[in-house]
Amino acid sequence: MERIEIGTRKSTELIDITGEVREIVKSKSGNVESGICVIFTRHTTSGIIINENETGLKSDILALLNGLIPKGKGYLHDRIDNNAHAHLRSVVLGSSVTIPIEKGDLILGTWQSIFFVECDGPRRREVYVKVITG
Ligand code: ZN
Repeated sequence: MERIEIGTRKSTELIDITGEVREIVKSKSGNVESGICVIFTRHTTSGIIINENETGLKSDILALLNGLIPKGKGYLHDRIDNNAHAHLRSVVLGSSVTIPIEKGDLILGTWQSIFFVECDGPRRREVYVKVITG
């Protein structure tokens, strides 16, 4: 298991971690190996997604999250620590993705990137990467 440390800078943002994940996969698998890679966040106010790294689309995704789940809409959890919107966005996004590996590399599509999605930043975050080959 490998770990990627991320220092987020905004309350909500998308951070492309494709390069870091790819380096881990290449270091853990040979050129001919196939397998799977699991990318997992242990935090309840963040998510992991796959999509295109394009500036406008990233803004569209953040606008979608804000529109679907606005902050401070009378959520019960806000009585505890005022971040229910961040937990709910995490529920929608999901906490992990699994990507097949072939010939020692992720078989991501041309326009696919892996994003850590911060929903309650800025914070120090940890993403875990598990590579299974065989
Ligand atoms: Zn909370």
